[in-house]
Amino acid sequence: MTQREGFLDRCIGFALGASLIMTLVGCAGDAMPSRSATPAHTRAGESPAQAVHVPPPLHPTPTTPPSDTDAALAPPSSADADDLELPAPKKPIPPKPLPTIPSSEPIVAVKIGSQPASQSVTLSSPSSMLLVSTATSEAGAANSTSGATPASAGIVDAWRVRGPLEIQANKNGWSVKDARGGSSRNFAPCELVVRGVGEEPIVWNNTKWPGTLRLVVDPESGGGKREPRIDLVVDVGIEEYLPGVIAKELYANWNLETFRAQAIAARSYAVVEEDRWNGRRHWDMVAGQQSQAWAGETTNERAIEAVRSTRGQVLASDGRVVPAYYSAACGGRPASAIGTLTDNPYHDIAPVSAGRVGQRQGRCCQAASVATWKVTIPLASVRARLQAWGKLNARTDLASIEVPTAITVGDRNAAGRAVDLVVRTAHGAVEIAAEDFRWAMNAPRDRATTLKSGDIEVKVSKSAGTAEISGRGFGHGVGLCQHGAQAMAKSGASAKKILDRYYPGASIVRGWN
Ligand SMILES: [Zn+2]
Repeated sequence: MTQREGFLDRCIGFALGASLIMTLVGCAGDAMPSRSATPAHTRAGESPAQAVHVPPPLHPTPTTPPSDTDAALAPPSSADADDLELPAPKKPIPPKPLPTIPSSEPIVAVKIGSQPASQSVTLSSPSSMLLVSTATSEAGAANSTSGATPASAGIVDAWRVRGPLEIQANKNGWSVKDARGGSSRNFAPCELVVRGVGEEPIVWNNTKWPGTLRLVVDPESGGGKREPRIDLVVDVGIEEYLPGVIAKELYANWNLETFRAQAIAARSYAVVEEDRWNGRRHWDMVAGQQSQAWAGETTNERAIEAVRSTRGQVLASDGRVVPAYYSAACGGRPASAIGTLTDNPYHDIAPVSAGRVGQRQGRCCQAASVATWKVTIPLASVRARLQAWGKLNARTDLASIEVPTAITVGDRNAAGRAVDLVVRTAHGAVEIAAEDFRWAMNAPRDRATTLKSGDIEVKVSKSAGTAEISGRGFGHGVGLCQHGAQAMAKSGASAKKILDRYYPGASIVRGWN
């Protein structure tokens, strides 16, 4: 699992700025070496979700849950305003069978940031940093990293430097400047790999990131007139990655058993995503709600202990790892992965199917502040948001929709959760998946009108010109319900009991030691 297949067979051309067309060429060895190399300091050794309806793309991505935004509680990550961006249409992704249980610890590639290629990237580390160009052969890089700093200011293979560093993409690859020492080096395209010497983390954006950092010019950015972007991707052993996930996904004062259940679920999810994307793109997951929140290095002892005490444990069903989706609060009515997060038929399994979960109403997350909620949106805004979403997703019926006269629930799943909505206007009716409606409404990032879930009822008032939306829960509702899990742990349930409830039919299996 630690072997990475080549992704970038060659460097891609991209436009930097409005008119300058630059071509990155010369990635040595056509294979992408960076993902196949096990970072020296890692141990041994794709979210949720699939792109959904194809076409048009269903939702943003699968998603991890927005957690409770109640300010009285500690703020889990997911309450970021970024969560509300209208998702870009997705390309169809061929379904892939779920992975078998890995026997060694996978290394996951997590995208921690992305920025315009014209802006420089600032990095530092408590120790020195070692920079290696992936354009050189691994043997060459190894030879040149033995300590000697190349004297030439031309293209170099490797550089050990104290930093902090200012890194800039240019037409020849990368220009790296030591902000303290004043010296600089140039690296060839495509990827620049940076790691802290002595297993120290790299500091970027005021956060410490364990693992090895890769700077990659996103091969899919820069099309048309868009400025290309630099992706910052961290390759990290899954056990080293997880504590910063759990710390950010749960409130710090929640029970250890909730943390342990969450650790096993998040590990399973990460294993599936790593297997799904390896060799298909230069990252497996995003550090954010689209995949799993990630705080980078954490000092949260409960999170560290939860990961340590469940090391190597994943959820399995029929010998394969369960895509263990989870969300903040199911509202008492869970969703199935299929139709909510993915169309991948391999995810049509009991552990992530609402039909097998049974009724949770009255005994799950009803104590959470997000168990029920209400927002009001002007009908003109509802129309504008549906039109914008329709244009982006090639839904002409929505792109030209008129002002709604009524919005009703179409299909419901086995648990009673809204699956589809019917939007009626003076001249017809249009269907839209409940989760898509949610993301369409949330595009403007207006917290006052944010729909926390797709499980809603809508009351249209023509006289007031508004849609009053009543909803349940927070997040997509598939798999583990974080608030429900905490309620169980508070009454004494173990992590195993929690997982048995939220992933029926799955068992905990140890993959690696
Ligand atoms: Zn729940």
